[in-house]
Amino acid sequence: MPIALVVHGGAWDIPDDEVAPHRAGCRRACDAGWHVLQAGGSALDAVEAAVRVMEDDPIFDAGTGSVLNVDGIVECDAAIMDGASLRSGAVAAVQRVRDPIALARRVLASQVVLLVGAGAERFADAAGHPRCAHTDLIVPREVVRWHDVRARLAHQPRQAFERPLGEVAGRGIVAGPMGTVGAVALDAAGHLAAATSTGGTGNKPAGRVGDSPIVGSGLYADDETAACSTTGWGESIVRVVLAKTATDLVGRGMAPAAAAGAAIEILARRGGGLGGCILLDRGGRVGYAFNTPRMAHAYRCGDGPVVDGI
Ligand code: ASP
Repeated sequence: MPIALVVHGGAWDIPDDEVAPHRAGCRRACDAGWHVLQAGGSALDAVEAAVRVMEDDPIFDAGTGSVLNVDGIVECDAAIMDGASLRSGAVAAVQRVRDPIALARRVLASQVVLLVGAGAERFADAAGHPRCAHTDLIVPREVVRWHDVRARLAHQPRQAFERPLGEVAGRGIVAGPMGTVGAVALDAAGHLAAATSTGGTGNKPAGRVGDSPIVGSGLYADDETAACSTTGWGESIVRVVLAKTATDLVGRGMAPAAAAGAAIEILARRGGGLGGCILLDRGGRVGYAFNTPRMAHAYRCGDGPVVDGI
């Protein structure tokens, strides 16, 4: 059985001076996941390893380097899904956790599928999962962006000011770079897995949860069809259950490349949305598509080299 891995480092209009670090970060993540698969590890371990590399890389909107919410702090969402059992684990609106995907993995091993906010943090503490300070996750770039976004939106009515940046961007008012991360993998045993982690959308309301930790929207994995991780304007992605939509298209016989494109077309037409997705089927065939200016990504299949793009 061929092994394969695809990662993304977020959609939106990644600025020119951040293109190289996004590509390099995706390649590093791809390498980390690949080492797991090559050593005979599981797809689940591979997607977790890949996403953790990107959570630690401050260029991405996940873990360290996440965008700031309306209160100027980082709140993260993450989820992981096993295509063999269809089991998943997720955390949402969680604070002071460097590696939300590892915490989501702990949830996967528990009796529940999704823990949020204070409950997720209590779960982390009870499990001995390392916590950090708010400031450990905040990078100067995002502080500058946070002040900039608030200044640009200051003339908008209060309601617009408190909307997540992604929604405002969807209304054509202002766009901003974000960098949710995700990975999908196929292991030597023929199992698929998916993982997605994000700081969400800039200036989002406290407690706002997007698509990323929602099974079917931010990710999906089913050994009978495909694995998918998504990025983009979360509120629109939820409308069309983007990850499940994409994997269902593969299940109906579409090649992943065509299915990814068709799913993003549905996101735009029915969800009025912006975003991207990566897709991997049980034969190790790769697909990706996006309708934002850029989406950082990298993949590796079988004996091939790492391929990256943006
Ligand atoms: N989908 C993420 C969210 O809405 C953001 C992103 O992918 O850029 O939380």
